[in-house]
This record gives sequence, C-alpha cells and structure tokens, in this order.
Amino acid sequence: MTEELFREDAALLECTATIVAMDEAGIVLDRTVFYPLGGGQAGDAGELRTEAGALVVIADTRKHPVRPGDIAHVPQPGAYLGAFAVGMRVTARIDAPRRQAHMRFHTATHLLCALVPHPVDGCSITAGYARLDFHMSEPLDKEALTQGIARLVAEAHPVRHNWISEAELDANPGLVRSMSVQPPRGLGRVRVLEIEGVDLQPCGGTHVANTSEVGAVIVTKIEKKSAMTRRVVLGFAEPAAG
Ligand SMILES: [Zn+2]
Repeated sequence: MTEELFREDAALLECTATIVAMDEAGIVLDRTVFYPLGGGQAGDAGELRTEAGALVVIADTRKHPVRPGDIAHVPQPGAYLGAFAVGMRVTARIDAPRRQAHMRFHTATHLLCALVPHPVDGCSITAGYARLDFHMSEPLDKEALTQGIARLVAEAHPVRHNWISEAELDANPGLVRSMSVQPPRGLGRVRVLEIEGVDLQPCGGTHVANTSEVGAVIVTKIEKKSAMTRRVVLGFAEPAAG
C-alpha cells in the first residue's frame, strides 16, 4: 500500500522512496508525492531519479489496476527502465507547474460549487482547463460566475482538510447537511475539504492553501449538455505556463 504523502501536504514537490514493484502498470513506490488520477483530478507527471543519477520521466499516475492501495507511476512511452529495479531508492519529483495548475483549478471548482447550489454530475480537472457538470435546468451566467470566483479569490479564504470518522459524521447530521456533496460511506473515515466560510465537502484531491492562490480563473464556456445538465468550463486568464 503506497503511503500517500500528497493527502496531508499538497505542497510537497518531492520525496525519497523505495521501489516495491515494477510491472506493465508502472513503477510502484512505498511512498509518493504523485497524485493518481481520481475524483476528476488528472494524475501527476514528473520524474524518478536513482541515487546513481538514472532518470525516468513519468507521464501519468494511476491507482494500480490490480494492486489495491498501490499507486502506479506510468513511465513515458518507450522509456528505458534498465537502471531501475525493485528495492532501489529513488527521488520522486512532480512536475510543479502542472500540479499547481491542478490545485488552482481544483480549488476553483469548490468555489463554483459554492456559487451554483446544485448537485454535481461530473468533474474533470487538467492543467489546461477544468469542467464541472451541474444537475440543473436553469441557465447560468458566465460573467456573474467569473465575478463570483474573483470575489472569493480576492477574499482570501483559508483552505484546509480534516479527517472525520463515520461515527463523528453520524453524531453531526448538520455537518453532513451542510456539505455540498454527500460523503462516501464504508471507508471508516472521510477526508473533508473546507474552504472557510465558503464550501465544505468530502474530497481527496489536492488544493491550494488559500483561495488567493487560485489567481485569475475565469469561466470560458457554459454548455447545455442535456435538459438537466449545465457544464461550466474554467480557464486561466493568463497565458498557460510552459
Ligand atoms: Zn477538492
């Protein structure tokens, strides 16, 4: 089971780790800073480097398909892995600008949830855009949402996570009612993401530490995907980094 360092500290860019498995899914480490695709958020890219200096570029990160709890670091297609073996120590380093984009967009999707009080049907967060599908039939106003996000960014709300046991959830029905998304059950504990005074919901993804770090995120498009689905697409106002 890979230790998920990104769950406690999304600002960590690198860690040392030991290779515990290598197979067609990728390279598995005993601990990692790489976030695997999930909850709508894209997997991290980056690199693994051995103590001798051999390097492999990691193109993506996935939950391992057949090893429950393990995370697979997916090498770039055609990568040479001859210098890597189970038991080796490596330094794992993520692509920081790509992750920063994921964290800014991901946090912005929580701000959208606060602005659009309807259930979410789907979510996709990449380094270039984010989109959120709301289950609703009413029209949405692009400018009003962009301004709403800008206001919440300017207000600089702290962002933090907490782990809550199911017993605590059961004892606080008001807490569950206040969440914009209902918590999953049966896992023993739930990771809850709070944007102080703005949004509270179960979420396992990576976020910036304050809404001010979201920066200039704008609504680029609103689409009517179906009679009961409105899709909101977010982009950065500034040109994409590298
Ligand atoms: Zn989140």
